[in-house]
Amino acid sequence: MKADVKNFKPDCGRVYLVGAGPGDPELLTLRAVRLLQQADAIVYDYLVSDGVLAFVSPTAERIYAGKRRNEHTLRQEQINTLLVKLAREGKQVVRLKGGDPFIFGRGGEELQTLAASGVAFEVVPGVTAASGVSSYAGIPLTHRDHAQCCLFVTGHLKDGTADLDWPSLVRLNQTVVIYMGLGGLPEICRQMVAHGASPELPIAVVQDGSLPTQKVVIGTLANMAGRVAQVGLKSPCLTIIGEVVKLHKELAWFEQTKSAVAA
Ligand code: SAH
Repeated sequence: MKADVKNFKPDCGRVYLVGAGPGDPELLTLRAVRLLQQADAIVYDYLVSDGVLAFVSPTAERIYAGKRRNEHTLRQEQINTLLVKLAREGKQVVRLKGGDPFIFGRGGEELQTLAASGVAFEVVPGVTAASGVSSYAGIPLTHRDHAQCCLFVTGHLKDGTADLDWPSLVRLNQTVVIYMGLGGLPEICRQMVAHGASPELPIAVVQDGSLPTQKVVIGTLANMAGRVAQVGLKSPCLTIIGEVVKLHKELAWFEQTKSAVAA
């Protein structure tokens, strides 16, 4: 039988889009650990902690893809092309991303390129920052007395001006979780008050959630920008806004022995 050259595909590998969780390696899924141990190549972002990388097979090729703010080591298109190339070499590739790959992770975009290129892939969810960081900060995202819903938004403001849907952010009885919002924090607090939120609404900013270096700063919409500047927080930071933040005082369990800065 003659080979159908047009549909012939070389022996192809597979790309696993894996969530690494917020930092504490104990929060990895079993599936993630197994894949890290079996991979031929790992392409990882800056948010992936050293503790998680310790699970990677010593024989795996490790490629750092960067993506800190203003420090894009590999451009998104280069990452997409690299994943296709590695898979076409027949490799089992783990694309490792902080948190959950489908929540503010551009994981969908990477999969679209793989799908268009005919590369097989799988998605392994992870503990997203909202969930992992709030747990380690002792701030429940919902609570019958305080919040019946929770909104996840990105605070990465285009051109420094906010294009967030402010009226939806200032609704009562909800918790707002802001990813990537450290730079835009003063503007976010200002806009929320301008759109009717109480200046006394509690807000927490958590740096390095779930890691030994975790820091929690508690304040209000009115004083948070000043507090964050005073403490000198660094990325990654997650912001939680809402009455639930008050529960931190009572429920903080992880940072008992860590450096906590509370109101
Ligand atoms: N896909 C990731 C989010 C990527 S966006 C997830 O599901 O968690 C990057 C943002 O996530 C950071 O700017 C920060 O706001 C948040 N983040 C991730 N890990 C964090 C951590 N350990 N502590 C605080 N914030 C974190």
